[in-house]
Amino acid sequence: MPVTFNGNELLQLIHELVSIPSPSGFTDRIIAHIRDKLESVGIACTQNRKGGLIATLPGKNQAEQRMLSAHVDTLGAMVKEIKSSGRLRLALIGGSQWAHLEGEYCQIFTDSGESYSGTILMHQTSVHVYKDAGKAERSQENMEVRLDAKVSSAEDVERLGIQVGDFVAFDPRTEILPNGFIKSRHLDDKAGAGVLLYLLQEIQENQLELPYTTHVLFSNYEEIGHGGSSSIPPEVVEYLVVDMGVIGDGQKGDEYSVSICAMDSSGPYDLRLRQHLVELAQEHQLGYKLDIFPFYASDASAALRAGHDLVHGLVGPGIDASHAFERTHVDALINTAKLVYHYLFSPMC
Ligand SMILES: [Zn+2]
Repeated sequence: MPVTFNGNELLQLIHELVSIPSPSGFTDRIIAHIRDKLESVGIACTQNRKGGLIATLPGKNQAEQRMLSAHVDTLGAMVKEIKSSGRLRLALIGGSQWAHLEGEYCQIFTDSGESYSGTILMHQTSVHVYKDAGKAERSQENMEVRLDAKVSSAEDVERLGIQVGDFVAFDPRTEILPNGFIKSRHLDDKAGAGVLLYLLQEIQENQLELPYTTHVLFSNYEEIGHGGSSSIPPEVVEYLVVDMGVIGDGQKGDEYSVSICAMDSSGPYDLRLRQHLVELAQEHQLGYKLDIFPFYASDASAALRAGHDLVHGLVGPGIDASHAFERTHVDALINTAKLVYHYLFSPMC
């Protein structure tokens, strides 16, 4: 097998992706970054009207095709209101819990291209002033952004060029540890995007020919539900999403395995494809967990709901504390990369 599945390369690629702010609706920069990387090794890319990127590797069979997808958009926020104190009230983009944002550093992007840093805080943070600092509800009402600028009124903030509707990105706080863990926000789904990017580069550089023409969609609106629901060529038969596996009480998934999803909130995934993925994992002795994701939907469910007639599947590395202080291990990334690799070279099920 010419592909080496280098864990450090995978971790570095993911680090690169989480370092580029990309809340849903603000993904041009990360899409351009991935497009540059792919075109520099000679992979043909196109973009759909809503800004998602489609990379295509031609295969032996062009009549029946495959599509894979990972999303590069993340949770984030928008400036909802500039308070008379010069603090900012936020509106969330995607499913964050306010409590998981407390104390987080953030960046605000203005229309003129400036960016400003700040910290997301409870209004009642100082324990020397507020008796209820510990107990007050973590909510949109009580939380605000303290800008790192000398501002004390709404006018001061507006003079910086900050306005309602500006995008806000959370600091990923990425750390890669020597024992193989990666801690970072937005591993959902930049871990999956990193795996697909790695495989595309490896397949291209090793000049491997795939059995079927295969499209890889880097979707950019998954967190709000419609990322991968369009731009699926009519020849596509199988649609495999690479997105995070769920970890918690009652779950099989862990930070070292690739999760193969049997069902999520949107219902069962295609049984034949699921069984095919399990067989591949067993044949190649990969660490995998067959699992059900309780509060979850993917780009594949979005595609089916949009009316596409597809065989759909979902796999991905187990991510702990998802949509908050996420962590996974290089073992889960390698197991995911190997499963997707073997799938790409396998016959359709
Ligand atoms: Zn996701």
